[in-house]
Amino acid sequence: MTTYSDADFVRVVDAKLHNLNNVSVEFPRGAVVAFTGVSGSGKSSLAFGTIHGEAQRKYLESVAPFARRLIGSAVDPQVELVEGMPPTVALEQRTSAGGARSDVGTISALSNSLRLLFSRAGDHPEHILDSSHGIAGGRLTAGHFSPYTSEGMCPDCQGVGKQFEPAEELMVPDPNLSILDGAIAAWPGAWLGKNFREILETLGVDTARPWRELDEATKQWILYTDETPIITVLPVREAGRTQGPYEGKWESVSRYLRRTVAATQSDKNRARALSFFTASTCPTCHGHRLNPAALQVRYLDAAIWELTHLDLDALLALLRRRYNHIATRAPRDDGPEIGAERILLPTTLAILDAVTQLGLGHLSMDRPADTLSTGELQRLRLASQVHEGLFGVAYVLDEPSAGLHPAEKHTLSKLFARFIAEGNSVLLVEHDMSLVTQADWVIDVGPKAGVHGGRIVYSGPTHGLATVEESITARFVHPGPLRLNDAPRHPVRGELKLAGITARNIVDQDVTIPLGQLTAVTGVSGSGKSTLVTHVIGSLVRKAVSTTVTDEPAGEEATTDDAVAVTSVAGLEQIQRLVHITQRPIGRTPRSVVATYTGLFDRVRRIFADTDQARRRDWGIGRFSFNVAEGRCPECSGLGQIEVELIFLPGSYATCPVCHGQRFNQETLTITWRGFTVADILALSVAEAKSVFEDEPHVLRALQALEAIGLGYITLGQRATELSGGEAQRIKLATELQRNAAAHTLYLFDEPSTGLHPADVDLLNAQLHRLVDQGHTVIVAEHHQAMIATADHVIDLGPGAGDDGGRVIAATTPARLAALSGSLTGQYLAAEAD
Ligand code: ADP
Ligand code: ADP
Ligand code: ZN
Ligand code: ZN
Repeated sequence: MTTYSDADFVRVVDAKLHNLNNVSVEFPRGAVVAFTGVSGSGKSSLAFGTIHGEAQRKYLESVAPFARRLIGSAVDPQVELVEGMPPTVALEQRTSAGGARSDVGTISALSNSLRLLFSRAGDHPEHILDSSHGIAGGRLTAGHFSPYTSEGMCPDCQGVGKQFEPAEELMVPDPNLSILDGAIAAWPGAWLGKNFREILETLGVDTARPWRELDEATKQWILYTDETPIITVLPVREAGRTQGPYEGKWESVSRYLRRTVAATQSDKNRARALSFFTASTCPTCHGHRLNPAALQVRYLDAAIWELTHLDLDALLALLRRRYNHIATRAPRDDGPEIGAERILLPTTLAILDAVTQLGLGHLSMDRPADTLSTGELQRLRLASQVHEGLFGVAYVLDEPSAGLHPAEKHTLSKLFARFIAEGNSVLLVEHDMSLVTQADWVIDVGPKAGVHGGRIVYSGPTHGLATVEESITARFVHPGPLRLNDAPRHPVRGELKLAGITARNIVDQDVTIPLGQLTAVTGVSGSGKSTLVTHVIGSLVRKAVSTTVTDEPAGEEATTDDAVAVTSVAGLEQIQRLVHITQRPIGRTPRSVVATYTGLFDRVRRIFADTDQARRRDWGIGRFSFNVAEGRCPECSGLGQIEVELIFLPGSYATCPVCHGQRFNQETLTITWRGFTVADILALSVAEAKSVFEDEPHVLRALQALEAIGLGYITLGQRATELSGGEAQRIKLATELQRNAAAHTLYLFDEPSTGLHPADVDLLNAQLHRLVDQGHTVIVAEHHQAMIATADHVIDLGPGAGDDGGRVIAATTPARLAALSGSLTGQYLAAEAD
């Protein structure tokens, strides 16, 4: 057993952030330390907010001492002292995927390596013809292989790979209408649209005729011309008044749309204008985003886009083969190209090794960051740390096990061991007991959530946790044997039968989903679970049903190589509604809070507007909205916080000095109901609010749904942007649960257990089963053993990831899956079963 001397310890004294109750704790440096506890207990507040926050504050003060006061208001970890802590590198799940332009290649730093390889070791044609860049012969630089640099991007699509054009069928969706009847849907409303119409009438266009009867040249001119003539519109009599004459400037519909997209200040107007555009593959670069010269360069007989499109597993195999090949040659035979490869390949291979070992070999470099799960994103960032070769830092990680099959978790332990061996520390916020029990030290925070948590329940060597009476986590250290379901519900709604599914790595597979059951889709990461659940079933059902509730971004039409094909589908008519719940953040602005998202705030505002005090002043519900000018704090416009401008720490907020975070102005806060101001209500936790709103059935129902799913600790005013993915998902589920839909609904979830303590997983699982008991159908892509064990039906995909996966290995009950030797998932279930 490891022993530690006093000098090896980090000491935290009197931490008070969020719900932390003057917490003091010590833990060893140079070790793997796991922070555990139910959701809302305070483990992130301690690990990220306090420990990483204090390290960050110290760092910022050392690089920018002049900004001490500003930093103090933006980064305030509310702790007396953190002593002995090394600098931290935090990989948090809450942080977003980064700019729209990042992808697997840029995040992992593999892009840089590959561009250098193409620049130094690629096969460059003698004479590259590229008039726009004036390159004739000679080597291209690494920058020429990036779609993000001005020399690298395709000159015709600016490196996007697509061209956006206003499309006739969108500008004029119904050609049976006349212009007078509104055929041109893309025209703005109000005076400008009328102005365009009057110009056409002056020019002699018959605006009363159906669009399809106008002659082609006229239609093309109206939609696409670049001419902008000034036309004198003659006086017209309308509604008894004479209007005009006036000078009107003509603009074709597409010209108007382009100008709006380029110039408007309003997101809404831009989005409206863009909705009339269609994307098509750029004809110059064929969607490969690079300038023509770069696209002609080949390395290992491939263009750069071909390599960035490969699975990382395949890329690793290819580059390793090349490296082994040149390693057997004598360096004196090297030309400059091979010399460059000898230098560049080892780093590239080291990153690829780490990435694939962390279960990400199924990704490709060109996968956009915003299509990755939070777990994949974090592991990718983790893998890219490997080549940084940092020494003496502490990695602070948020649930690195997310998205990993039990068979893949040991690779994480190996990576941590490597970090420790290199002289670093690892701090984990983790729910997975197989990882927690491998840590050197455990800090269990709790015992429960919110005000019922925020204490240290246990801090010590890992083996000591299991016997701590008060710890909820302790009960899961040695869980009893799993009971595997062998008595599925009767599939009362029949079956959804899909035959010959081909999509991404799934090739010609048949899948049957029993309706009225809970189906778990399992397999290692990259085996095709999300592809089957979201991409195939989600998109087929979405097209067939009239109601869909989904938080997937709209308008992400599949590209040609991302299409779903099936040879036959039966049973779709049984499904009336589709609900797809993800861990995507709710809303992007701090204007959305738990109370507004769940809809209960509407009722609260009505209650305040109905008080005698408010009626006397003639104040309506608008007065009690922090998004409306009358009632909100003018300083922060109702946000409760103001952005602090720190160039080295963008997006930092400090509490509003005028309303102190209350969001409303003083007059609004003079109105009370049952002794609470509207700001007081927002400060209540769900559990507290339940007693306040006892006799308000509307509000109560929403609160009960939140509590049932383990969110009793969350405050009504909690900003949607500050929720974890797991919390956001459960709030969406709670909102759905209180709807109580009668129509047979298909619910889709992608790894809903992510971010949840085992105790919270049990709560979530119970709610999913409740939906099925009500007659609905639930499909989850999952790794969590306890959830899989209770499913009615398991579809196991595999055997591996990417091209090695995508096949249905088994489709049966959990109990029978455990008896199958060919299923990795079955083997792990069997190992934990009684
Ligand atoms: P855990 O990581 O254990 O799930 P957290 O540390 O995120 O728990 O939360 C602990 C408590 O602090 C909860 O009651 C939560 O609502 C509250 N909390 C979390 N983030 C914030 C915040 N930014 N502002 C105020 N309270 C917060
Ligand atoms: P799982 O959910 O089991 O982790 P996925 O369904 O995400 O697996 O991935 C299956 C295969 O499909 C992998 O080879 C992966 O790289 C590929 N893939 C997944 N999502 C996309 C996407 N948005 N675009 C292209 N390929 C994808
Ligand atoms: Zn292009
Ligand atoms: Zn304010």
